[in-house]
Amino acid sequence: MQFIDLHKQYDNIEEKVNNRLKNIFTHKRFIGGEEVTELERMLAEYVGVKHVVACASGTDALTIPMMAIGLEKNDAVFVPSFSFFASAESITLAGGTPVFVDSAKDTFNIDPTSLENAIIDTIENGKLTPKGIIPVDLFGLPANFPEIRRIAEKYNLFILEDAAQGFGGKINGKRACSFGDVAGTSFFPAKPLGCYGDGGAIFTNSDDLYEKIKSIHVHGQGKDKYDNVRIGLNSRLDTIQAAVLIEKLNIFDGELKKRNYVANYYSEHLKDIVDTPTIPDKYSSSWAQYTLKLSSSDIREKMMKRLAENNISSMIYYPIPIHKSTAYSQKNGDVELEVCEELSKTVISLPMHPYLSDNELDKICKTISDLCSE
Ligand SMILES: *Cc1c(COP(=O)(O)O)cnc(C)c1O
Repeated sequence: MQFIDLHKQYDNIEEKVNNRLKNIFTHKRFIGGEEVTELERMLAEYVGVKHVVACASGTDALTIPMMAIGLEKNDAVFVPSFSFFASAESITLAGGTPVFVDSAKDTFNIDPTSLENAIIDTIENGKLTPKGIIPVDLFGLPANFPEIRRIAEKYNLFILEDAAQGFGGKINGKRACSFGDVAGTSFFPAKPLGCYGDGGAIFTNSDDLYEKIKSIHVHGQGKDKYDNVRIGLNSRLDTIQAAVLIEKLNIFDGELKKRNYVANYYSEHLKDIVDTPTIPDKYSSSWAQYTLKLSSSDIREKMMKRLAENNISSMIYYPIPIHKSTAYSQKNGDVELEVCEELSKTVISLPMHPYLSDNELDKICKTISDLCSE
């Protein structure tokens, strides 16, 4: 049983995707074709923001906004350590310094108390200047934006929403990718909205940020194409990927319903046996991952083994908190983030995609409940 099934999805959209690709092979505008503009318009409308810039990856979708804001080496950006490496890497790439924050036990998202403490410590310490926060919509659940907004205003910090996994989530009916001053998402194939390669998009309501972001994603270009006004990147989304995404966005709401069905099925059948995901009131998740918290790393090892014996894939997101990674541990090795270190030892993610059948779900739940009742 596959962790993510891209075959069944393709069966559903094959003809439409192939027709769009054929059209691109005819018009041959492989860079900046009208499909890119069309996708940007669709994404802006879906999320409910004024501006969208498609770019080459989710990592760039985080790096470019911080290049636009402008960071210096002693500028601190606060980021949860329990996330994918790129959440922090983008800060370093943009010239700033990541300060790692602990996660909430129940939602796995950045913990507002730990965040405010980290900001206060940083101010008292005096070496770094707090500039911004990158809340991550981990596993598809939007971060605690009402609380984070309050803290950001109190300390005058920007919010860059890392919605790489969050596209499709909501708080109070408002969609993910609209919660920060600016947001970035990823279209890596395994994300809730994925393309057939690398891709990403940046979302903002700010006209000023939009102009800078648009310029930076094409070598810092100015009004005159060959007079570059700042340092940028080559980070465009390919026309071919935009075409794939247009067709995937057309079926996205239907897929999101099915993801919710899968998540509810798991939770119904597993909630009395293991610690299932918490979705706070008025929040909804895009279910990038369905992640259980187990009581020990031993039990997790046993469960992964048992699932594998039954031909069921499972994954660990994330086995090493970012501040403990080789790249960051030299400077952050003594940082203590109790919850995120505990989560790294005990979480396990189950197969999650819209095409799981009741039979498959039943088999997964039974394998877990059999193991837990031994
Ligand atoms: C996938 C991911 C990214 C990076 O996206 P890419 O498209 O792979 O560059 C950043 N942050 C988080 C939380 C992610 O899951």
